Amino acid sequence: MNSPRPIIAVSSCLLGQRVRYDGTDKYDPWIVELLGREADFLPICPEVGIGLGIPRAPIRLMRVAGRVRALGIEDPSLDVTARLSSFALETLNKLRGVSGYILKDRSPSCGLGHVKLFSDDRRFERNGVGIHAAIVRAALPDLPMADEGRVQDPRVREAFVQQVFARHRRLARNQENVPRSSRTKASPSSSA
Ligand code: SF4
Repeated sequence: MNSPRPIIAVSSCLLGQRVRYDGTDKYDPWIVELLGREADFLPICPEVGIGLGIPRAPIRLMRVAGRVRALGIEDPSLDVTARLSSFALETLNKLRGVSGYILKDRSPSCGLGHVKLFSDDRRFERNGVGIHAAIVRAALPDLPMADEGRVQDPRVREAFVQQVFARHRRLARNQENVPRSSRTKASPSSSA
């Protein structure tokens, strides 16, 4: 991706998009107003991306027969695990060209940590990782990823920004080494 500024994927709700299950957002002023001076954003909302509406029934992580599933809280027969997994795999190509990814914490889709995982008897078991975040992290281990809770810490924030700019420089160098005729043009767009 030959962009003069780094492109950072961000959970859409953190950018102020009203895409949460209850129709609200989780606007993050540091991301939008400060990081936005230095970078462009690629908004991604996996739950809207798989066709769930706004508002929608909330989901949570549950272990069923030993496997982690994303199920409706009110109606556990609503199982969106496969759709979230497919969406994450489809998103990987876009993410290969971005320099970082900031995700909403505690979300059963986007959360990198602090996501409540319940056992099949509906008891809290432990903290887990959201379905979308887990697939992206496993597939793209070199992509700097941070959850919005952790980047409130100035040292974590600084380290993340440095990683983002280092990857941006690497991507730009790689692009320069690709023959002009084989370059693909990409621009930030919403996947939500
Ligand atoms: S799925 Fe992710 S981006 Fe969409 S509302 Fe939930 S936390 Fe935000």
